[in-house]
Amino acid sequence: MGYGYWGKVLRIDLSSGRIEVETPDPIIYRRYLGGSAFGLHYLLKELKPGIDPLSPENMIIFTSSVLAGTPLPGATRLSVLGKSPLTGGLGETEAGGWFAPELKRAGFDAIIIRGRSDRPVYLWIKDGKAEIRDASHLWGKLTGEVSDILKEELGDNRVRIAQIGPGGEKLVRYAGIVNELHHFNGRTGMGAVMGSKNLRAIAVRGTQEVPMYDPEKAREIVRWFVQEYYKPQPGDMHDLGTSRIVKPLSDTGILPTRNFREGSFEGAEQISGERMRDTILIRRGTCYACPIACKRVVKVDEGPFKVDPKYGGPEYETVASMGSLCGVSDLRAVAKANEICSKYAVDTISCGVSIAFAMECYENGILTKEDTGGLDLRFGNAEALVKMVEMICRREG
Ligand code: SF4
Repeated sequence: MGYGYWGKVLRIDLSSGRIEVETPDPIIYRRYLGGSAFGLHYLLKELKPGIDPLSPENMIIFTSSVLAGTPLPGATRLSVLGKSPLTGGLGETEAGGWFAPELKRAGFDAIIIRGRSDRPVYLWIKDGKAEIRDASHLWGKLTGEVSDILKEELGDNRVRIAQIGPGGEKLVRYAGIVNELHHFNGRTGMGAVMGSKNLRAIAVRGTQEVPMYDPEKAREIVRWFVQEYYKPQPGDMHDLGTSRIVKPLSDTGILPTRNFREGSFEGAEQISGERMRDTILIRRGTCYACPIACKRVVKVDEGPFKVDPKYGGPEYETVASMGSLCGVSDLRAVAKANEICSKYAVDTISCGVSIAFAMECYENGILTKEDTGGLDLRFGNAEALVKMVEMICRREG
C-alpha cells in the first residue's frame, strides 16, 4: 500500500445488516487517487442501469481525499456519490469540515452503502470497527438535536457526525448531508438517498495517524504556509468569507439577480460579506487543519428572523440564491433561511433557486395566491422567502 491511504473500504448492506472490509487492489488507488474519482469507479462498476435513485438498489458512497487527515491545510474534502433523485444522473457533492479526516483517522478510505434498513439506523465507526445502531430516537429531530444526542450517547465530544435532517427523511429531492452542522454535501439530493435507506447519520471517531511518506516534510510545508505564505488581510477569505465576492459580482453585472433576469442587484451592499462582518457575524469557523478559517458563524437575537449560531452562517452561494436571486436584501432573512436549511439539511442553492423561479412565475401570473396558500410571492418579500423555505424543508403545501 502507498501513503495517504489505509487500503480499506468499509462496505455496508443495510438490508442484510452485513458489514465487510474490502481491501482494493493498490492499482485502483494509483488510477483514481481518491475523492470523487475513487467513488465514481465503484458507481460505474456496480450500479445497475435504470434503477430508481430512492430504491435499495442505489448506492451511496463516501470517500475522502488522498490528503485528508494529514496536517496539510485545505485538504478535508468529503465526496458523496450515488444516483441522483434530483436529476436521474450522477449525483456528486463535496463538503469540507471534519468528517473526511476523522474517517481516515478511523482507518477507512471510503464507505460504500447499499440496501435499505427496515427501521431508522445510524452507523458508528471507531478505529477500524463499525456497527449499525438503532436511530428510532433520532428520526424526526433537527440536525442540532441529533448532534447533541449522539455526542452524549457516544460519550465523546470529538465524534464527527455526517447526517441528514428531516428534509432527507421526507425525501426532499434536494436534501443534503451536513457534517458538524456547518459543512454541507448539499448538491444533487444525496440526503434523500440516505433518507430512502433509513440511514439518519454516520458517526465516526479515529485516533490513528494517517501514513505519510515524510511526515516531517509535511509539517515543514504547514509551517511555511502559516508563517510565510498566508498573511490574513482585510477583504480576504478570513475577513469576509466567500461572500466577499457579492459586491464585485454585482458591480461587474454577473451577480444572479431576480431569477437570473438581471446581473446587478441594488441591495448587494446590504447582503455583502462586509455587511455580514459588520452586523451579524459573531465569529469565524474553520475546517480540519485549515488556518484560513473562512466559515461564518452568525447570530440574530431580535426581530422576526432570529438566528441560532449553532448552525453557522450563510456562504456566498446561499447569499446569492436566497438573497439577490429572490430580490431579497434583508441579510437577517437570508441568514434565517440558511439556518432553517441547516436544521433540516436541505440544499440552500436548489431551495433558493426553486423559490426564485416560483417568484418569477408569481410575478407573471402563472402562479397566484390560490397556488401559494395566500403567500404574496413577489421578488423581495423576505417573509415569503422564509415561509417558503420552511414549507419546502417540511414538505408542506
Ligand atoms: S476553512 Fe475555508 S478555506 Fe479552509 S478548508 Fe474550510 S472552506 Fe477551505
